[in-house]
Amino acid sequence: MKRMNEYRYFYGLVLRIYPSNRQKNIIKVNDNAARFIYNEMVAVERDIGRFGKRNIYIPFIENRIRFLKEKIATVTALKNRYTWLCNPDIDSECIANARLNYRKAWKRYRDVPGTGIPSFHKKDYTESYQTNPHYKPHKPVSLFTSNVRFLDRHHITLPKLQRIRCQGSPKILAKLFRMETVKIGTITIRKDACDRYYASLLLASDEPFYDAVPKTGTSIGIDLNLENFYVDSDGNVKENPRYYRKQKKRLANAQNKLSHRIEIAKKENRSIRVAKNIQKQRRIVAKLSSDIMRRRRDFLHRESLLLIKNHDVIIAEDLRSQNLVRNHRVALSIQDSGWRSFLSMLEYKAKCYGKTFMMVNPRNTTQTCHVCNHVLQGDDKLTLDDRQWICPVCGTHHKRDLNAARNILAKGLRQFKEA
Ligand SMILES: [Zn+2]
Repeated sequence: MKRMNEYRYFYGLVLRIYPSNRQKNIIKVNDNAARFIYNEMVAVERDIGRFGKRNIYIPFIENRIRFLKEKIATVTALKNRYTWLCNPDIDSECIANARLNYRKAWKRYRDVPGTGIPSFHKKDYTESYQTNPHYKPHKPVSLFTSNVRFLDRHHITLPKLQRIRCQGSPKILAKLFRMETVKIGTITIRKDACDRYYASLLLASDEPFYDAVPKTGTSIGIDLNLENFYVDSDGNVKENPRYYRKQKKRLANAQNKLSHRIEIAKKENRSIRVAKNIQKQRRIVAKLSSDIMRRRRDFLHRESLLLIKNHDVIIAEDLRSQNLVRNHRVALSIQDSGWRSFLSMLEYKAKCYGKTFMMVNPRNTTQTCHVCNHVLQGDDKLTLDDRQWICPVCGTHHKRDLNAARNILAKGLRQFKEA
């Protein structure tokens, strides 16, 4: 049977699920197990690290390290030691995935600069764990043949949870149900802080999940900037959505109210977990922030899809550059406007729809005149506040962001030809 990474196309399907009380309980038990295993791995490896640092090889320490290593070596070892993990409601894939996630966190630490070493997962108001389907070797691979399968458009069966009501986009489900071979990979089951439950399924296939869009024969450069969302090389300005700022203010107020209530409860020695007014306010805060995130994500999805549909080649600056991150004020703002997620959306959507997305080095894209290629130096250099300028060599009057977008386009097209 083909492994997940041997397929050509991938798709992330998110379903809202509506578990019964019994199923909610099973989800909670699995979330506890996943967090416990992860934290146990963190604790044991920290111990091993501490022992390893001392350069004395006395048998006691060697035995201790061997003992610790064995303790977390396999799922069975963990189960033998912590018998509550043998609870029949606990999904063994959930334990395996928790171990895997810990290893992945180390890999991320080694591969991605700026990531910390794996640390303890704190218990909060969300829950999540991961599981995988089991396909039988002689059966065809589809959405209907493993122990994770759709029963109809409104029901899915999941390991341990069994039949569960679900809700997904009818259009997307109809398309997926028509496809010949779709393999289900990792499934993440989670509860958010507003007590809503979701199942996210990673799907893979050799058939594309998206219908191809027609070629337009155009290329575009985009300059992501602080003033608006972006300016493109045709001079179009995409504003940041307005609702965002208003919503953020509302969220800040709600958060203040929450911390105020927590403060009072602490003074009066009341427990936060049982204080009704605090829990109510916590849900309001969670709902507001998830609304903001959802609307932001919708905006990014819509805008990235528009660019991909309207152009064959899309070029942007590579914001992973160290310089931008070092400037704290700018870095915060990058995170805020979701530029990184926007760029990765463009990247994967370009692949899905057969278009080209490229990133270029942001060096001098702002400081170069796109007409005569003069690069501003020293005192001539533009600061963040210079919105317009006149080229000292050719005398062209520039709007800062439009000029940058044109340079990005030119830089990208040069790179494209060389490749
Ligand atoms: Zn010039």
